[in-house]
Amino acid sequence: MRRLQATLDRVDRKGYGAYRDLQGTYDLGGFSLFIDRVQRDPFAPPSLVRVRTKENRFDRELFGNPVRRVAFEDFLTRSVEAAIRKVVRGNRGSGGSGRVEIQRTSQVVLPRTSIVVAPEHIEARMAVGLPARGRTVDARAARTMLLEELPEVVRRALVPEGGVEAARARLHVETVEDAEHLRDLLPSLDLVAFVADGSILPRESGASDRPLREGAVPFRSPEKLRVSVGLPNRGEVFGMGVPEGVTLVAGGGFHGKSTLLSALSWGVYDHVPGDGREFVVSRPDAVKIRAEDGRSVAGVDISAMIGELPGGRSTQDFSTPNASGSTSQAANIAEALEIGTSLLLVDEDTSATNFMIRDERMRELVRREPISPFIDLVRPLHRTLGVSTVVVVGGVGDYLDVADRVILMEDYEPEDATPRAQEIVAEFPPRAPLGEREMRPPRGRRARASSIDLRRGRRETARGKGLHTIELGRERVDLSYLEQLAEAGQTEATARIIGEFAAAGESRSVKRVVEEALDSVSRGGLDSLSGFKGHPGELSLPRAQEVAAAINRARSLEAVPEEG
Ligand code: ADP
Ligand code: MG
Repeated sequence: MRRLQATLDRVDRKGYGAYRDLQGTYDLGGFSLFIDRVQRDPFAPPSLVRVRTKENRFDRELFGNPVRRVAFEDFLTRSVEAAIRKVVRGNRGSGGSGRVEIQRTSQVVLPRTSIVVAPEHIEARMAVGLPARGRTVDARAARTMLLEELPEVVRRALVPEGGVEAARARLHVETVEDAEHLRDLLPSLDLVAFVADGSILPRESGASDRPLREGAVPFRSPEKLRVSVGLPNRGEVFGMGVPEGVTLVAGGGFHGKSTLLSALSWGVYDHVPGDGREFVVSRPDAVKIRAEDGRSVAGVDISAMIGELPGGRSTQDFSTPNASGSTSQAANIAEALEIGTSLLLVDEDTSATNFMIRDERMRELVRREPISPFIDLVRPLHRTLGVSTVVVVGGVGDYLDVADRVILMEDYEPEDATPRAQEIVAEFPPRAPLGEREMRPPRGRRARASSIDLRRGRRETARGKGLHTIELGRERVDLSYLEQLAEAGQTEATARIIGEFAAAGESRSVKRVVEEALDSVSRGGLDSLSGFKGHPGELSLPRAQEVAAAINRARSLEAVPEEG
């Protein structure tokens, strides 16, 4: 502590660069402080520090298995966030002076680099804006931050207290463990998703993932689809099981269809207690599919959905810098099948009409239509590839013909309308014979590593910028339409995975690139994505589906069909 104090005294009022001397490790009594990287000036990205307690006195039950440990690390990240808000004064001068931050969380629980819970210590990774007056060192303020505020944050968040906090930690960990268990149960119950009774599905607003506070109607399962499941902590829970096959969500406008589908799409992740969707789970590989006109596509086999294009262009190896609504939606499906999925989630609100359906009159008029509409594909998708679909359709009754199950939303309440739908189907003449069409899986692609150029001036970069952008060299990859990307840490981790692939220079199939990268992360931890020893930066674990989707959206990407 004295060494830190002495260094601070020495650099006081010097140019900001003198802060460099702080780099190193300090013993601050109950914990160690690692100052890993010092920022260049007060306006640059903040300095990176870690604090590590000398022991871990938390109840072992809280981190006794991998699922619990991730949940407990998530809990502690949020506790540090809350402690910082209480204890840290914040702005103490120019630029980012005085700020203390830990990785930002979202409503979901993910493996992150923010906290490490080890049997013998707890480590928190934070960012600190070392304080300056203008561009000179303000040692007094730095002293307050490092020797008063930080220790107080540690005391409040990283050392066990009794009472309320202990109970909250336990609830957090048990909720996540239950959700994981529930998701693991789905295949054995022949379900693709489960929505517990009492869940709160609507969100605060289009811009916020927090639960709607006022007037939210809790979910109530229709009797016919009600399933009970036994969870390790919570015990028996009732809710709606969404069976494998083709499920149609119908209902009038504004009756909660998209809200239900969106909750299913987030069901690939675990949620924090209080979110309202703690026990809304879906298959972990579920992919929300949408139209995304304007995206680039590299060598994707969409031939099972779209036949020959104008000019005799093949669709087995389809590339375009500017996909249409329908071709982008087809590419999104082909890519999802390529990386692996057992559940597609499709909403009419975000689909291309001509991809979803073509009615008889239009079939008469337009003879040269390369698109097999999705309505003709959903059954073969399940029959031949075992891929289920939940599709929201309010306006196209033809979909009743192909649905195994129809859920009708009325005033936010689901009803099993399958029998009524079957009556209606019998009353009307059938749409058109479907036949026993097969659905071919898309051919794999080899992504050319050299097509991704990481150079930007004299440096090489592959980094995330917020939630929706990845910078690869001079290219910006737009991820705005990846609806299942939860937080910026996933974007950053994805950027680093792509960076490693490009830097290694070896062309491989997209699937292999992603699987090998995530395997290596699961063995070496997220820290292994950081080339830097010490503070690894702010990373969260992405899914294979989003990593592949990010690679696929790089405009410079070149890919060729795999042999065989
Ligand atoms: P649809 O897709 O059927 O047109 P949405 O799912 O978009 O309807 O929902 C319409 C509105 O109703 C949204 O503002 C949504 O937040 C709200 N909403 C959805 N479900 C509920 C619910 N269970 N309780 C209260 N409001 C809800
Ligand atoms: Mg809708």
